[in-house]
Amino acid sequence: MAKSNNKKSNNFEKNAKELNTLSKKELIKRAKNFSKQYCVGKGEDFKLKEYETKASFDLGEEGKTLVNETLQLGVDALAAMQDILYAQDKWSLLLIFQAMDAAGKDGAIKHVMSGVNPQGCQVSSFKAPSSEELDHDFLWRCQKHLPERGRIGIFNRSYYEEVLVVRVHEQILKGQKLPEKLITKDIWEDRFQDIRNFEKYLNRNGTVVIKFFLNVSKKEQKERFIERVDDPDKNWKFSAADAKERGFWDDYMFAYEELIKNTSTEKSPWYVIPADNKSYARIAIASAIINALDEMELEYPTVSAEKLAELQTVKKALLEEK
Ligand code: ATP
Ligand code: MG
Repeated sequence: MAKSNNKKSNNFEKNAKELNTLSKKELIKRAKNFSKQYCVGKGEDFKLKEYETKASFDLGEEGKTLVNETLQLGVDALAAMQDILYAQDKWSLLLIFQAMDAAGKDGAIKHVMSGVNPQGCQVSSFKAPSSEELDHDFLWRCQKHLPERGRIGIFNRSYYEEVLVVRVHEQILKGQKLPEKLITKDIWEDRFQDIRNFEKYLNRNGTVVIKFFLNVSKKEQKERFIERVDDPDKNWKFSAADAKERGFWDDYMFAYEELIKNTSTEKSPWYVIPADNKSYARIAIASAIINALDEMELEYPTVSAEKLAELQTVKKALLEEK
């Protein structure tokens, strides 16, 4: 669990300086360990206030380089593992990103996946549903975008909006064309159960699901909103609607706590990532993805003796070619 600060930052500095000298195996081990503190695992006792929004290190100028180098090492390790995932073509990985506006979802996805072969990776964004989508059950539109075997699928928002924005603004629920008698006080519990079952089903079919909540503070969101107004290159990212949603902050935090409590499981855990510092958040996310890939025990497919002999024959023929 993510509670500490200075001691951890010192360790981070010490660890980061050593990283370049580490073997891939040791690097993976460190990434796994680092990610653990943000992994909720079984959610029963989850309390959002026990998780920090701030990453607690202050490494100065030299630290910035260190952080970037660490992220790059993580990104490289992740890319190498994704190559094996693709070659093996059995498992797939679904990464779900949820957060308040301006928490850094888009940037995290862009940076963490920057080394990954685009052929092995699919990003899908889910906004307010279309009328066609509202004509179906709530998982329908997401199911169409699940990753194929050997691929990493990224959901930028997801079916979790169904227990977030829809819970915060109940009039959205009324517009979902559900039969009235199905809208009961148990609807959120029902949806949690459906989501748990869906993720279990995916798991049993070889898709590992891990979920990230980018935990940004209300104060940091305010600063990022102001920056989006002041910086002409960021104006496009901001709308008055975003500022309006901020007014429902406490309702959203309640909805997040509830959903994490009810849908974080050992096999499909939520990671609550401190998001006030973007670089730190990205390192934590990359580490968690490395952890998930490592648990798959990936290996390049082995080639039979027959096939090896065939390859040698082809090589010989190529060399003898005039
Ligand atoms: P983002 O806000 O993710 O950075 P964006 O600004 O490009 O992306 P928006 O047009 O703001 O996209 O769309 C996201 C909005 O769609 C969010 O406010 C989200 O709550 C809403 N949304 C997503 N899924 C649903 C859903 N199932 N029902 C209602 N609203 C939804
Ligand atoms: Mg938006």
